[in-house]
Amino acid sequence: MNIIVCIKQVPDTTEIKLDPTTGTLLRDGVPSIMNPDDKGGLEIALRLKEQRGGQVTVLTMGPPQAEEILREALAMGVDRAILLSDRKFAGADTLATSNALAGALRTLPFDVVIAGRQAIDGDTAQVGPQVAEHLDLPQVTYAEEIARADDNCLTVRRAIEEGHQIVEVALPCLLTVSAGAVRPRYMSVRGVVEAHGREVERWNFDSISVDERRVGLKGSPTRVFKSFARGGRNAGTPREVDPGEAAEIIIERLQEKFIL
Ligand SMILES: Cc1cc2nc3c(=O)[nH]c(=O)nc-3n(C[C@H](O)[C@H](O)[C@H](O)COP(=O)(O)OP(=O)(O)OC[C@H]3O[C@@H](n4cnc5c(N)ncnc54)[C@H](O)[C@@H]3O)c2cc1C
Repeated sequence: MNIIVCIKQVPDTTEIKLDPTTGTLLRDGVPSIMNPDDKGGLEIALRLKEQRGGQVTVLTMGPPQAEEILREALAMGVDRAILLSDRKFAGADTLATSNALAGALRTLPFDVVIAGRQAIDGDTAQVGPQVAEHLDLPQVTYAEEIARADDNCLTVRRAIEEGHQIVEVALPCLLTVSAGAVRPRYMSVRGVVEAHGREVERWNFDSISVDERRVGLKGSPTRVFKSFARGGRNAGTPREVDPGEAAEIIIERLQEKFIL
């Protein structure tokens, strides 16, 4: 079975800080990591390979330093690593990002594509489902476990608000996975040592199959007019009331905000 996992390098923080003057992200001094949801996806891919045999490939679009997370994935046990990097991809919004990833996937054999549910920096949760749409693949979001796999179909447990759903999906398909779904394995010492000597394939725009107008800034319909950090909360107004009145005040406030 050919499994491809899309992984993204992200700053190691769930709380991105913004420059209050320019509105741009402050990335200096923030270490980069593999997006946590993608690690969950990678673990599910490796387990599927152990069960069914085959090959796990990781694919990332990013600058040259994104190679670090590909080496980490190699040390965790993947077979092939591809870095998609080209100036033509710069300035991509989620649509252009997913178009570039889909362009790469068109040139690769696969049965299952796995993406993280969401990246902790961009936070949109759009890229996985968009890739599925571009490639006309059935998709299962919030996948937690592949309960059964055969040559044509996967049985997947997915999380829903009230519990779980078991769904069958025909191959080829795309799954999105959250970090909490599985505990990702650690890199082995041998894997780390070997990963240094292994090849990371470097692909550019010419390596993939996509219309140039659909990638990078040109292919990005999103325009960001302003970014700003949410202001701190005010201290509130302390009031001494009995429990009954307190409940009424709380209900009133929640109704004002349309929460109740
Ligand atoms: C107008 C605009 C311009 C932008 N310009 C830039 C820019 O110049 N440089 C820049 O770095 N960002 C830029 N961004 C941010 C960039 O578009 C997003 O980081 C990217 O599209 C992924 O979106 P996300 O982080 O919300 O991912 P999500 O949709 O939350 O991610 C879900 C999953 O998709 C997969 N995935 C997402 N991105 C990648 C990737 N690159 N490679 C492999 N798998 C991936 C992962 O599996 C991830 O877990 C720009 C955004 C906008 C709106």
